[in-house]
Amino acid sequence: DAGICAPLPVLGRDVSVPLVTGGEVTYAALDYAASAPALQRVWDDVAAYAPYYGSVHRGAGYLSQLSTDLFEQSRETVARFLGCREDDQVVFTRSTTDSLNLLAAALPSGTHVFVFETEHHAALLPWRRAADATVSCLPAPRTPEQAVAALDVALHAAAKGPKLVCVTGASNVTGEIWPVRELAAAAHRHGARIVLDAAQLAPHHAVDIAELDVDWVAFSGHKLYAPFGAGVLAGRADWLREAEPYLAGGGATRTVGRGAHGGLDVEWHTSVARHEAGSPNVIGAYAVASACRALTEAGLDRLAEREQQLLRRLREGLAEIPQVRVLSLFGEDSARVGVLSFVVDGWNSSHFAAALSAEHGIGVRDGLFCAHPLVRVLLDAEPGEPGECGAPDAAPGDRALNAIRVSFGAGTPEEHVTRFLAATR
Ligand code: PMP
Repeated sequence: DAGICAPLPVLGRDVSVPLVTGGEVTYAALDYAASAPALQRVWDDVAAYAPYYGSVHRGAGYLSQLSTDLFEQSRETVARFLGCREDDQVVFTRSTTDSLNLLAAALPSGTHVFVFETEHHAALLPWRRAADATVSCLPAPRTPEQAVAALDVALHAAAKGPKLVCVTGASNVTGEIWPVRELAAAAHRHGARIVLDAAQLAPHHAVDIAELDVDWVAFSGHKLYAPFGAGVLAGRADWLREAEPYLAGGGATRTVGRGAHGGLDVEWHTSVARHEAGSPNVIGAYAVASACRALTEAGLDRLAEREQQLLRRLREGLAEIPQVRVLSLFGEDSARVGVLSFVVDGWNSSHFAAALSAEHGIGVRDGLFCAHPLVRVLLDAEPGEPGECGAPDAAPGDRALNAIRVSFGAGTPEEHVTRFLAATR
């Protein structure tokens, strides 16, 4: 790539796909925001360990000890990657969705949760299921400063009691970067806690929990160049220690005694094991830790700079196509990670995405990206306006409320962006 350094090797980089027009082309994966291809290096690490795994935390054999050590070392690697404070806990979960649901299940009684309507559903919805919590959904801000000011006002007006703010680091729709440090300062000014949904930020930027001064961070391994199945919730131990275990079962208990009258006396762990009942996903945790190591060694700043070069090319190319409208909440020039959504005049976004795949071998995503309220705001939909054509609740003639998302990262060669722009023109 002239001017842009080589991508990191990822799985699937040489896969050929058939085109409707005949022939084949190398697949261009431009849907990193949904799931990034695993780094070859992560795959190699997992393959090197896989023949030797054994049961963790319970077995006495050599391979069980090896697995237990690797699982616990993986936790330490993730803690270092996130700049965790000394008494922070790193809980291995299935995904960001799982991590945020775990935190929602651990809220102290009567917690007031504040969340912007622009969040991914995984950050928008779990709090509503928490018994005894109140949720305030703040309207979409149009600048980062407005976001901070709106949170300040909302927290100022809130009654005494435990409060939690949940905010994304980077939008999965627009890629725009949110003012996390400032939002955290506002939260703490009012005695609230804050959890950062770093699903889209962590794959593109260093996330330092202590430096951002957030209370928890959640992310997914499959967006951070590890395979599917493992995620992380890292942060303050107190709410987690005091909460009911997320899953009841083996591993989360210190002792289970035979109580009087056929009952049971259960004593739960207060350590991280409290929320990791059942046999854990050791290979998943190991893969996440391997990805953290690989990104650190490649240099997150260097990767971010490379990604910004690709993003500049993409934005400049799209700006030359008059039918394209790039979606943004904070304005055309706002800071973004390698995620961008747009609509094309005269095209239904689903048809456009299908044509990119069938005619050019390019994989993007279309739809409302599990952030329906945000996409409706970006497309100026009226409240209550029906959904996307083709959606189960859509009536004939409904406006298509959908967009096309292109997203990329450390494994993306410049050729994919060039091919995407040529196809879009
Ligand atoms: N938050 C954001 C910002 C996301 O982009 C996603 C995934 N699209 C999630 C949360 C949920 O992640 P997962 O599907 O891995 O649970």
